[in-house]
Amino acid sequence: MRKIGPTLVIATHNPGKLREIAELIEPLGIACVSAASLDLPEPEETGVSFADNADLKARAAADLSGLPALADDSGLAVDALHGRPGIHSARWAEDEAGNRDWPRAMQRVWDAVEAEGPDAGHDAHFACALAIAWPNDGQAETFEGRVDGTLVWPPRGDQGFGYDPMFVPAGGEQTFGEMDPAAKHAISHRADAFRKLVAALQAGRSS
Ligand code: IMP
Repeated sequence: MRKIGPTLVIATHNPGKLREIAELIEPLGIACVSAASLDLPEPEETGVSFADNADLKARAAADLSGLPALADDSGLAVDALHGRPGIHSARWAEDEAGNRDWPRAMQRVWDAVEAEGPDAGHDAHFACALAIAWPNDGQAETFEGRVDGTLVWPPRGDQGFGYDPMFVPAGGEQTFGEMDPAAKHAISHRADAFRKLVAALQAGRSS
């Protein structure tokens, strides 16, 4: 993969995501700055897939900053719901005032699965797409990760965020909401995508 650095823009306005991404990138000797600290606007997520949305966020940040930029997009995809809520995972949590309400989002997902009937399975996966874009010439690369599992009801645990309390990863018994965060991060969709990104970066560096 083409080299990046010495500075990479992390195209997120979410401080938690920035910290998590910077921790993964900085051991490679690449400094990270956030889109928020450069005052870059957040583009509208008009893509039809996680990869599309990560790509458009990375390209927008690269074009506006003149620096390589990394963006991510992620969510929960439920088999019985044909992949929903998918790229609308955050939107399913919004109440009438536009505030995010996670118990409500989990209830919506569970109710939608129940409405599919008694034979609807509970298989689901979390998906994450990471995109790196370079300024000026339109070059970009995307890496996708996933973790498979099963939905459970009622939700369990207060670690993690989002849909974590209703998701048990394959082969496990605890929900992501009950697991130690380090244990979740070792197997998560985001970690899977990052491993692919870092492998590509390291291959590029040694070539
Ligand atoms: P976005 O990529 O910031 O738009 O986030 C999409 C949404 O997907 C989040 O707000 C969460 O609802 C959900 N999501 C993504 N990753 C996770 C996770 O690791 N655990 C629980 N929910 C997640």
